[in-house]
Amino acid sequence: MTSRTTSLVTRGNALGAVLGAAALGFAHAAPAATWLPPVRRLLPRLSGVGTDGHVALTFDDGPDPRSTPRFLDELDRLGCRATFFVLGEMLERHRALGRRIVRDGHELGVHGWRHRNALTVLPGRTAAELRRAAGLVAEVAGAAPVWYRPPYGVLSAEAVLAARRAGLRPVLWTAWGRDWTRSATPGSVLAALAPGLRGGATLLLHDSDCTSAPGSWRAALGALPAVVTACREAGLRVGPLRDHWPDVRQRRPPTFPTINRNFRNDDRVAL
Ligand SMILES: [Zn+2]
Repeated sequence: MTSRTTSLVTRGNALGAVLGAAALGFAHAAPAATWLPPVRRLLPRLSGVGTDGHVALTFDDGPDPRSTPRFLDELDRLGCRATFFVLGEMLERHRALGRRIVRDGHELGVHGWRHRNALTVLPGRTAAELRRAAGLVAEVAGAAPVWYRPPYGVLSAEAVLAARRAGLRPVLWTAWGRDWTRSATPGSVLAALAPGLRGGATLLLHDSDCTSAPGSWRAALGALPAVVTACREAGLRVGPLRDHWPDVRQRRPPTFPTINRNFRNDDRVAL
């Protein structure tokens, strides 16, 4: 193990401990952890703090044919581009929709293969799933992905290392719409995001309800015009993560020569 690796492990362990402690209690219910002030202070880029004057718009959990096309249509109408953190198991079933996301000018990021909490899976699982998802995203997008957001915002040391090895940069969020709940409405989503609509923010919304309350994506979709308008009226540009950190070199990670088609999907770990 190199000293660089050691330092990554140490950092990853500390980070995992901080995030994990916060997330374990309610991993069932919600994305978690980034409200922790120390994470924002110590690791602003990880938490999504970017270029002043720009707001990054991100969507998790798709692509979903029941809802994602509606988001793409609305984003097109608004003249706005975004980053979609996709699940490998969704993208595998809906590759054409993944290709449309890219064709429409948006970015694909990696959210994992399945929506698992990295702290509850067996060693090796997170890394294997991350590699598999990154390989599929590269295949569908025609370019290697740059961004990784773990489910629930929970980063384990294994996830940090695996992301690094795959050339992925972990990014969480600075503000969320709480759009995953059964009671969410466009108004509640806008209200949840409003305090965080400032330059450098990374907004978290969901373009699929595959891991949340059925139909909850409608609240996020309904809030979208008001969110984008509020940002623009404040003089902020809204766009994908690639415009959030223009200094981030769009590295090409190692190629992904083996996508294991026989990868087992039947050993779901209960969260
Ligand atoms: Zn998610």
